[in-house]
Amino acid sequence: MIPIRQELFPLSAAQAGVWIAQQVDPQSPALNFGEYIEIEGSLDFRLFETVVRSVLNRADVLHIRVIETGDGPRQWIAADRNWEFPHLDFASMANPHAAAEAWMRGDLARVVDLVQGPLFCSALIRISLDRFYWYLRFHHLCNDGLGHAWVTEQVATEYTARVCGRSTIPGRPIGWADVVASELTYRGSRQFVEDREFFRSAMSGRSESCTLSGLPPAPARRHNRATGHFSAALTEELRKFRRRCGVSLPRTLLAVSMLYHHRITGLRDIILGVAFSGRIDLQRQPGAGMYARILPVRLRINPEGTFDELARQTAQSIRELLPHQRYPAERLRHDFGLMPSEPDVFGTVVNVMPFNGHLEFGGCKARNHNLSNGPVRDLEFAIYDYRDPPELRIDLDGNPAHYLQADLDAHLRQFLRLMESVVRSPALPLWQHEVLSPSERVELLQDLTADKSVVSRATLVALFEAQVAQSPDAKAVVCESVFLTYAELNSRANRLAHVLIELQIGPEQFVGIALERSIDMVVAVLATLKAGAGYLPLDMDQPATRVQRMLQDANPALVISTSAMSDRLSGTDPVLWLDAAATRDRLTRSSPLNVPDADRTSRLCPDHPAYMIYTSGSTGSPKGVVVSHQNVVRLFGATRAWFDVGPGDVWTLFHSLAFDFSVWELWGPLLTGGQLVVVPWEVSRSPEEFLALLVQCQVTVLNQTPSAFRELMQADFENPVLSRQLALRFVIFGGEALELASLDPWYARHGDRTPVLVNMYGITETTVHVSYLALNRELIQSARGSLIGGNIPDLRTYVLNAALQPVPIGVPGELYIAGAGLARGYWKRPGLTAERFVADPYALEPGSRMYRTGDLARWQANGTLEFLGRADQQVKIRGYRIEL
Ligand code: AMP
Ligand code: MG
Repeated sequence: MIPIRQELFPLSAAQAGVWIAQQVDPQSPALNFGEYIEIEGSLDFRLFETVVRSVLNRADVLHIRVIETGDGPRQWIAADRNWEFPHLDFASMANPHAAAEAWMRGDLARVVDLVQGPLFCSALIRISLDRFYWYLRFHHLCNDGLGHAWVTEQVATEYTARVCGRSTIPGRPIGWADVVASELTYRGSRQFVEDREFFRSAMSGRSESCTLSGLPPAPARRHNRATGHFSAALTEELRKFRRRCGVSLPRTLLAVSMLYHHRITGLRDIILGVAFSGRIDLQRQPGAGMYARILPVRLRINPEGTFDELARQTAQSIRELLPHQRYPAERLRHDFGLMPSEPDVFGTVVNVMPFNGHLEFGGCKARNHNLSNGPVRDLEFAIYDYRDPPELRIDLDGNPAHYLQADLDAHLRQFLRLMESVVRSPALPLWQHEVLSPSERVELLQDLTADKSVVSRATLVALFEAQVAQSPDAKAVVCESVFLTYAELNSRANRLAHVLIELQIGPEQFVGIALERSIDMVVAVLATLKAGAGYLPLDMDQPATRVQRMLQDANPALVISTSAMSDRLSGTDPVLWLDAAATRDRLTRSSPLNVPDADRTSRLCPDHPAYMIYTSGSTGSPKGVVVSHQNVVRLFGATRAWFDVGPGDVWTLFHSLAFDFSVWELWGPLLTGGQLVVVPWEVSRSPEEFLALLVQCQVTVLNQTPSAFRELMQADFENPVLSRQLALRFVIFGGEALELASLDPWYARHGDRTPVLVNMYGITETTVHVSYLALNRELIQSARGSLIGGNIPDLRTYVLNAALQPVPIGVPGELYIAGAGLARGYWKRPGLTAERFVADPYALEPGSRMYRTGDLARWQANGTLEFLGRADQQVKIRGYRIEL
C-alpha cells in the first residue's frame, strides 16, 4: 500500500491533533469540512476546471496520504493527480438548490480513505442557466479554513486573469514535507521554550474555564446550530467604530465575545479559545495546509471600563500572542497538567473569518456558504465577515449534550443584542450593556416569581391549640400501639410547659430535645413552644462530638431527656429527666390547661424562634439555623393550595428532628387536624417494616428523600399484596436531587393519579421548602435533568451570575432565595450570616435579604427550575448535608 520510493514523514502538530480526533471514531466523517461558492453569471466550465486543477495540484499538501505505522502515523505526498471533478446539472430539477444541498451533504458525510485518498473533493453544480455552486470539501488533515480560503481566492484570481487574457505566473511555495521538517526543528528551538513560557505565564493563576453551559467537558459531537446576521447598517457602524479606535474587525468581534461571556457568567477573568492561522511565515508557507490551532486568550474585564478600552485591550492581547502562535495547542493540556477528565483551559471557541470576503470569477459575483458540521466540545462562535452585502453572519455551534436548539437561539439573540448595544453606545460602562431585553429581565426577576401572597401572622402554639379546640377527640399522635387524641396530647404538653416555665424557660431561649422517637418527643417539642422557647433537636444517633459541639455552641437553657441517654449527656446541665420519679411527680401536679400569655416569662410572638437546627459540617463545625414560628406558619399557609390535606390525613414522622424535613412532617398534621404516626427508629431503617406500617396506619401523606424512597419502591415491588393496600395521597420528595426517571417503575404499578408524587427543593436556611413540582409519568419520561419546579408564592427565586446579574433562561447560575421563608440567620455567627444572607438588589422593599444557596440551577422556558448540583464541595447522604 505504501508506495515505494515515496518518502514517509511525520505529521505536523496540528495534523497530529486531527489524527487523534479521527482515531476516536475512524468511521466518522466529522473531520471533513466543506463549503460551496455560489457563482452568478456565465461561467466557462472548461477554463474553470483547468484553473481549479492547476491550483489544487500545485499545493502538494492537498495530496497527502496518511497511514498508521509501527512508529505512529506517517504521511507521504501522492504522485497521482488524476482526481475526479464531477460536473453536475441540477437545473432541470424541481428544486435545484435542495438537490444540490442534498448531494453536497451526502458527499460531506463520506468517510475518507486516508490511505487511498484523495482527501478532498471539488465539484461544479449547475443550479440554473446562470447560477453555479462550486463545492469544495477537505479533510482537516490536509487543509484548514484559511487554506480553503486561499484555494478559492487563488482560483478566483487566476480564472479572472485568464478570462481577461492575462497569464499568471504562479509562485512555487515550499513543499509540505519541508514545512513539517521546519516544525520539528522548531520543537528543539529556544523559540519553542519561549512560546511555552509565554502561555504558562499568560495562564498563571487562571480561574476555571469559561463556558456558557457551565457543564463539565463532554466528548465532541456534531453540533446544533443557530445562525443570525448583523445587519449591513449595524455592520457599517461597527466598522466605523473599529476604525475610530484602531482595532481590526476580528479583534473587535473577539472583544464582543469576551464581553458576552463576562455578562452571562459574571466572571471577570475570561479565557476563550481563539482560532489562529498558525502561519508565521506567510511569504514562504504554502497557503493551503493544516496549520490552524485554537489557543487560549485571556482577558481581565473591568466592568466600569468602556468597550473602546476592552477592544484595545483585546487587540493588545492578540498582538502579544501572535509571535507565539506556532506553539502546538495540543501541548497546552500537558503543560498545564490537565487530567483527561478536566476541561480545557478554555471553554467556548471563537473563530472570526474575515478572509472569506469578496470573491469574483471573471466578473461573476460569488458568495460562499459554509456547510461544515464538525465536532464541537462545548460551543463555537463562528463569525463570517461578508463584504457584499456588507453584513456579518454568526453561527453558534453547540454540542447537543450541552445546548438545546432553544439555548443556542437565545444566546444568538442576546449576543446580537449586546453587539448592537456596543455599537450604539461604545462609551457606556461595560456593566450597563444589556444582554436581556427589558421584558426578559422583568420576567426573570419578577414574573416567574410574581405572587406575593401574604400569610397572616400567628404562632405554632396558637394554631395547634385552635385544632385542639376544634377536634379534641380526634387522634393526634400514634406510636406503635399507643395513641393520644388532640385533647390528651395538648394536656400532656401543657403539664410539661408549666414545669418548664417554673424552670424559667421562655421566649428567645432554647431547650434541647434529646429523646428517642416517641410520643414523649412530640410532647416535649409542643411543651417547649408553649413555654415560649425554641426547641433544639439533639439527635443522639449522631456522633457524640457533634452533639457536644452543638450543646456548647447553643448553650440551651435546659435539655429534656431520659435516663437512657444519661451517659451521652454527662456534663450537660441542667437536664430534665422525664423518667425520674421527681419529674413524674411534678408533671402529675402540673396544670393540664393551656399556658396563658401572662404566665410566660415574656409574651410569645410569631417572630420568636421556634427551633434551631444545626446544619452541615458533619465533619467541620456545625452552624445553628434559627427559624421563627411565623416562618413555619407561612410555609403551610403559602403551600395550602397545593395540598388539600385535613383531618382525614395521616402523616408519618419518619425523619430525625435534626433534619428540617421533620418540621414539615410534624406540623403538617398538627396544624390541620390530621394524625401523626411516629415511626420508630428501627422501622425507619427497614423498608419492609415501613411499608407494612404505611398500610397498617393507612398513611396518606409521605415525605421521603429520594434515596429512602428508592428502597421503599423496592419493598413495594417485592410485596404486591401490601402495595395494593396503600392509602397514599401524596408522596413529597425533598432533601436531595431526585432522578426523575427512577420513578418510572413506581408509576407503572400505581399510575400517576394517586398518590401524587411531588418534588420539593428546600434548605434549612429558608424553612424546609422553596419550590414545588407535581410530577406525572409523562413529565418524568420526557424531562431532562432534576426539575424542582417553581417557588412557593411568598418566596422569590433568582438565578444569578457571579456579578449577581440574572442569567438568561437555560443558562446555569447560582440560586438565591428571597422572601418570607428566610431564617433569622446563624446562631452567634454574624460574619457567616452576613456572607450567606446578603442584600437583595431586586427587592421592592429596601433592606430585604436573599439567601445564597450554593446550588446551581437554570430556568427552563416554562418557568420551571432545574437543579444542577452544588457550586461547592457540599454533598448529601440520605438527605444529610455534609460540607467537605
Ligand atoms: P438542607 O438544608 O439539609 O435541607 O439541605 C439543603 C440542600 O439540599 C440544598 O441546598 C440542595 O443542595 C439539596 N436539596 C434539597 N432539596 C432538594 C431537591 N428537591 N432536589 C435537589 N436538591 C435538593
Ligand atoms: Mg431540607
